[in-house]
Amino acid sequence: MNLESGADRLGDVDSATTWLLESHDVSSPPTQTELRHLIRFREATRHLVIDDNQITREEWAASTAGPRFTIDPQSLDLQPLATGLRGVVAHYAKAVTDARSDGSWVRLKACANPACLWAFYDRSRNRSGNWCSMDVCGSRSKMRTYRAKDDRS
Ligand SMILES: [Zn+2]
Repeated sequence: MNLESGADRLGDVDSATTWLLESHDVSSPPTQTELRHLIRFREATRHLVIDDNQITREEWAASTAGPRFTIDPQSLDLQPLATGLRGVVAHYAKAVTDARSDGSWVRLKACANPACLWAFYDRSRNRSGNWCSMDVCGSRSKMRTYRAKDDRS
């Protein structure tokens, strides 16, 4: 969900169906229960990115609803067994656990703009990125800092 605009690709069944088809080739519309599950998982993942502590870890693990995996005999990678919406959650759950084990998790951050909190991957060389987008949230922050300095002078 975009906190600033209120737009949410999972905001209703029609929006979620479009996103699932475009992003995951899942063509069947989610039920309201499935949609709530997907939103719960997304928000638990966002909270885990914002504050990685025992509570958020437990909430995140519960939100995955116990995805089951099999092992690909060629690559020895874990592959989600579920299809459809449960498969989508399993796909992202695996991405989170992979990121935590390969060290890339530290690059997943929440935007420092409290009105945004968009989760983003920090590609900066020294992992110093604070904003989902320098053009949007970064520029706004610089403008606020500039105005604050201007007000003091
Ligand atoms: Zn942002």
